[in-house]
Amino acid sequence: MFQPVGGMDRIPAALTRAVGERRIRTGAAVTEITDTAHGVTVTYTQSGRTRSIEADYCIAALPPNILAKTAHNLGPDVQSALEGCKPSSAGKIGLEYRSRWWESDHRIYGGITETDMDLSHIWYPSYGHQGRRGTLIGYYNTGSNADAYGALTPREREARAVAQGVKIHGEKYRTELATSFSHHWRQTPHLEASWHSLSGGPDAPAFAPLNKAAGRVYFAGDYLSYADAWQHGAFTSARKAVTALHSRVLG
Ligand SMILES: Cc1cc2nc3c(=O)[nH]c(=O)nc-3n(C[C@H](O)[C@H](O)[C@H](O)COP(=O)(O)OP(=O)(O)OC[C@H]3O[C@@H](n4cnc5c(N)ncnc54)[C@H](O)[C@@H]3O)c2cc1C
Repeated sequence: MFQPVGGMDRIPAALTRAVGERRIRTGAAVTEITDTAHGVTVTYTQSGRTRSIEADYCIAALPPNILAKTAHNLGPDVQSALEGCKPSSAGKIGLEYRSRWWESDHRIYGGITETDMDLSHIWYPSYGHQGRRGTLIGYYNTGSNADAYGALTPREREARAVAQGVKIHGEKYRTELATSFSHHWRQTPHLEASWHSLSGGPDAPAFAPLNKAAGRVYFAGDYLSYADAWQHGAFTSARKAVTALHSRVLG
């Protein structure tokens, strides 16, 4: 899943339609997960109020670094497995231009310029060709490069990315710029990571507690698949958890 028509959020929008909007509670931050002999209690805050929900089972699909900071009674093995999932960094900036100079001047219609600078890639839009304005991804970087940009203010990030882009494309990279928006995933509330690295892979013994139920609580997320950092991995892991729960209930 690389470029869904209409933008990446069309995928969760389609899933929401399939599941039914009334079954989904957004803006609900889970603060505690308690496994009991007969069910699971999940406590969350929503619009400033704390509430609880009782269920027969729970599939915990929070990122592992967030789950590790959430109160639970799932045991020390689960906790140390969660803490073993190491969060990674990624950052991006969108540079909006008044003209599509990369098309008119350079005949660039989509694709990526790979660089040896800390912006890593410049990514050109493969939609809206020959339109009036356009947005480039001015950097999409990871690891220490992403952290270096993340430590700057949005205006400083823009200045650094543009100074590097000018070296490739010339002054229009600066003079045609209208505005920018940048994002650092380590600073995103409720994620605090781009993706995670699990030493030895998700089937390494250290992560065994997350590959089975802890009482009535299952775990799912791309981090538990071999396609981490791809929605494919999130689907694979979700299917595995749901299949295990389905077999258990039928059994
Ligand atoms: C920069 C970047 C680019 C990417 N590009 C692509 C791409 O092109 N194609 C692709 O397929 N994948 C891409 N991915 C990967 C994709 O985003 C992930 O694989 C996918 O989102 C993982 O799904 P998930 O359900 O496992 O976790 P998430 O999507 O992280 O879902 C976890 C959810 O838990 C919620 N949460 C956290 N704390 C709480 C709490 N206390 N209470 C309740 N909810 C909570 C979070 O808000 C979040 O919605 C990209 C990721 C990044 C960072």
